[in-house]
Amino acid sequence: MTPLELIIKEKAPLSIAEFMRLALTHDEYGYYRAQRPIGPKGDFTTAPEISQFFGEMIGLWALNVWEQLGKPSKFEWIEFGPGCGTLLKDALRITKTIPGFHEALTFSFVEISPYFKELQKEIAPDAKWHSSWQDCLEELSQDSMPFVLIANEFLDALPIHQYVYKDGNWYEKMVNFDEKWGYTEHPLSQMFNGTISDTIEVCPEAQELIKRLSAVLKVKPGAALFIDYGYVEGHGDSFQALYKEEYVPPLNHIGEADLTAHVNFGLLKEITGTPYGPITQSKFLNNLGLFHWKEKLKSQCALDKKGVLEAQYQRLTHPQQMGQLFKVMGMAHSDLQLVGFS
Ligand code: SAH
Repeated sequence: MTPLELIIKEKAPLSIAEFMRLALTHDEYGYYRAQRPIGPKGDFTTAPEISQFFGEMIGLWALNVWEQLGKPSKFEWIEFGPGCGTLLKDALRITKTIPGFHEALTFSFVEISPYFKELQKEIAPDAKWHSSWQDCLEELSQDSMPFVLIANEFLDALPIHQYVYKDGNWYEKMVNFDEKWGYTEHPLSQMFNGTISDTIEVCPEAQELIKRLSAVLKVKPGAALFIDYGYVEGHGDSFQALYKEEYVPPLNHIGEADLTAHVNFGLLKEITGTPYGPITQSKFLNNLGLFHWKEKLKSQCALDKKGVLEAQYQRLTHPQQMGQLFKVMGMAHSDLQLVGFS
């Protein structure tokens, strides 16, 4: 058993949320502290790593927010979980000729991984780093600087509870160790709405985050984008692990595999009452002009590069690739009208 497994075993039975928290973010052995998740030898890839198109579209989206706010001389780019910083790099490249925009930008990141922090420093050496979204939002509420907040594949890493409905009773699914890792079900006194299927997932941290951000946006000019795989309706077991780009059972490779769950965007929308999405990633990117941008770049490049650009576009937008499963939800101060959602 690894040191991390011993720590987790001590606490067993523990909720899936507590298990995720330890396996992903334990100070010393957690996955995000100790591993290098993204990249050629990593466990998973993400939209910005697949194509520059992604960061470019988000850069233009953020530029639009800045312009709507009257091009303020100070503007904060906040990112939750920037990973390798590629989204930001591409966003900065496409906006570099806009007078005043880069000069206005300051950067704040929420990042837990020391490895990613180093990569982010190469792109934004003067950024401020927060180790938790709570700290970042706390600070955000204390000044009046207008901001954009980007979170691509961040919410899916927040810990979830799983509740199972069986024979008229609800149970919490817990992680347990009895000679080997497995699950046990513990009766709950609490009842949940909807018995449509037998498993529901609840992510208290995501709900809290959205609530607190909503409160900030009531009083401060700014806008936020959350992009993740997720659903609007329907429940089910979406707890999953990726290890070296392969799906594995979540209790194998503890601390070495990325653990995630799909984001319940339907509920998050209900909490915020936001009019912006969730819509599919495909719609969002094409609403921002990706199709035409891709065609323009294709018309200007060598034949072999045309195929590469088309393939990247397809990966981001095709319904059987990331286009449909990935959703985008926006939130904004009421003075703003976010682009990309209609
Ligand atoms: N946005 C990037 C990376 C997504 S991976 C991209 O699209 O490529 C998830 C990111 O969130 C990583 O940077 C990871 O280190 C960070 N992260 C995950 N859980 C976190 C937590 N609880 N607190 C702070 N950062 C976290």
